[in-house]
Amino acid sequence: MPFIAETLSDTDWTLISVLGYVKLWIGRELRCQACRSAMHLRRPTFRRTHFAHNPGYGHCPYDEGEYKNEREEHKQGKDAVDDYLFSVSPDDGNMATRQEYIITLGDGRRRIVDVALFRNGEFVEGHEVQLAHITPQEIDERTKDYESVGAVAAWYLGLEANINSNQKHLRKLQGVCLALDFVYTTEEETNIFDVQADSRGKADGG
Ligand SMILES: [Zn+2]
Repeated sequence: MPFIAETLSDTDWTLISVLGYVKLWIGRELRCQACRSAMHLRRPTFRRTHFAHNPGYGHCPYDEGEYKNEREEHKQGKDAVDDYLFSVSPDDGNMATRQEYIITLGDGRRRIVDVALFRNGEFVEGHEVQLAHITPQEIDERTKDYESVGAVAAWYLGLEANINSNQKHLRKLQGVCLALDFVYTTEEETNIFDVQADSRGKADGG
């Protein structure tokens, strides 16, 4: 489910996060950054406030993979990877990240990059939080798609995706296998779990 959309500012469509929209732009027109269909703000009781398509939209990349009924772990995983990237990268002032970054491939297909990393404004790395079941072949397909637009893919495995075959494959592909560990605690009052993700290390051998 989208946490980023486009809203109509005075003259143009502008990217906006849910938080920014609620704080600054509430009530303005919304559209999907991936498929351009009209959207609205949805505030479910037990899930995060997010953007949702209005009825009657066509095909959208947000209906695929981790974004179809996005889990709390996926959202938290993206935040953890986002933080991690800034913690491991030298602060040269030219680095930026963006979650839910849409790329359009040569054949017109669109992909949503979980956490895109930019250097000097150029998309150079696509960081993928992979929690749902995936095959090495699907990993390769997305990796190639990113390469076709000049970026390197980096994968972080968690939950159902963090299995031996994928770990092996990633060690071959990127020399290291990064894992996301989730720690669940029950909050008495809300009964909503809290997740802590650790995207470090877990390299090889272990
Ligand atoms: Zn859409």
